[in-house]
Amino acid sequence: MSELRFEGITVRFGTGRAAMTAVDDVSLTVPDGEVLGLVGESGSGKSTIARAAVGLIPVQEGRILLGGRPIDVRHGRRPLQMVFQDPYSSLDPRMTIGASVAEILPQGLSRASRRAEVERLLDLVHIDPARTGSYPSQLSGGQRQRVAIARALAGRPEVLIADEITSALDVSIQGAILNLVRELQTELGLSMLFISHNLAVVRYVASRVAVMRGGRIVEEGPTADVLADPQHDYTRELLAAIPGRIPSIEQGEHL
Ligand code: ADP
Ligand code: MG
Repeated sequence: MSELRFEGITVRFGTGRAAMTAVDDVSLTVPDGEVLGLVGESGSGKSTIARAAVGLIPVQEGRILLGGRPIDVRHGRRPLQMVFQDPYSSLDPRMTIGASVAEILPQGLSRASRRAEVERLLDLVHIDPARTGSYPSQLSGGQRQRVAIARALAGRPEVLIADEITSALDVSIQGAILNLVRELQTELGLSMLFISHNLAVVRYVASRVAVMRGGRIVEEGPTADVLADPQHDYTRELLAAIPGRIPSIEQGEHL
């Protein structure tokens, strides 16, 4: 795992009078082995930062460094892996979940070790390895999201980017996915950029939190400090909007 650093990133969409700045001079660090939570209302630029990091959209200014170096995507390397809100967008409905996970494994493994690795990864996210032949449609939403996480881990990423991964899930199973994220972080020492519009979710998994509004970071610091003593009005608004405890979060049940 490595530190992921955004230095003075600016992303603009459109040209001329239609131009808009989605991300405005943002600097952020995902520390090695930690989870940085990125929180802010819809449209604040969170996904744009994630998409810029994985090279899906160009940045107009600034640079993105992994372990102090520009991100190397040569030779099919994918040092950053993303998990999205909707597992349907990352899982091909025509592929078995085993095949979906295997697809991201490094080249050059024998058949037997690919199979063993797929089973290990499914087990890691608490999906019965006997289900490798199942299709996404045979799984619940929470199970699909677990498979999407296993698939991302198959790429042996240095940093995992999770963009609203619990937002499409029933509130009753959000907690189980958050518990899984915590568990993986502890077991694997994952570095992670964890994005959500919901501060209640972010505070549960992130050691540090950055608050984004209108393309800018308005506040950043250790999660406990930001929650106990928010410095910005907008952070206080987000805090006030937290509905309370997330059902099932403390139970850690698996699906
Ligand atoms: P968030 O993830 O915080 O909800 P986004 O990063 O998706 O926010 O969007 C930030 C802003 O950039 C929004 O105003 C959105 O409409 C705009 N935007 C995002 N992607 C594009 C795009 N491909 N083309 C034009 N505008 C975009
Ligand atoms: Mg988004």
